[in-house]
Amino acid sequence: MNQARKQRVSETVQNVFAENNLDYDNFSRQIVPLNQMMAEYPLMVAELPNGKTLSTKTAVKFLEIEIGFEMPDLKTDERKLSGFLYTAKFGEHLQGCIFTDKSEPTARRRFSAAHEFGHYLLHFLQLLEITDAENLFLTESLAFGAEAENEAEIEMAQDFDFKKLGVADKKQMEAEADFFAAELLMPRNACRQANEFLKGFAGKNKRAVINYFATEFLVSFEAMKRRLEDLKMFEKEA
Ligand SMILES: [Zn+2]
Repeated sequence: MNQARKQRVSETVQNVFAENNLDYDNFSRQIVPLNQMMAEYPLMVAELPNGKTLSTKTAVKFLEIEIGFEMPDLKTDERKLSGFLYTAKFGEHLQGCIFTDKSEPTARRRFSAAHEFGHYLLHFLQLLEITDAENLFLTESLAFGAEAENEAEIEMAQDFDFKKLGVADKKQMEAEADFFAAELLMPRNACRQANEFLKGFAGKNKRAVINYFATEFLVSFEAMKRRLEDLKMFEKEA
């Protein structure tokens, strides 16, 4: 991700805060009100009811039956997903849906939702402008492993040229959505504030420090660790 794209992601996050009358640079260390923020956009954010496992199949079925959307012919399967994003344009009206899986811990669900929110703002809105596509459809297979790798896989119902979006490939789209989620859920100044606060008594127990931060922002240990490394608050482990 080059500096210009990073800047664009950061500005998009700051706009989200501004839409909610929140000042990004002066946001104190606390849980970011993600659901409240997303409510400012034409987005439905939900888990599938009745404890249903999230997959493209269950998500599309839910949209068709419960919401009454006329869905395009999509290839679906039952592979378990962490996040799912669907965007449709009805004339001038835009509707997006973000689903997460209820069986996952809240912290991970928040990250998945924020990641999809990032795709929506950074990629989908622009895509809807430059294509004639009425429906855009994206599924995610997010794996949160021990290596802190967020293995997201993006699948689109339509073929399109990524370069038109200013991104090189799908991998870059994923990196941007992850960066968006990190910037949104763990605002940099709030991280610095927490770091100042912790100085002195948290000492050198890195795990304890990360845990403290993760609780403060309601994110997973892995997401917090990666964020602190990115902000150069911790040395990256070899
Ligand atoms: Zn993604």
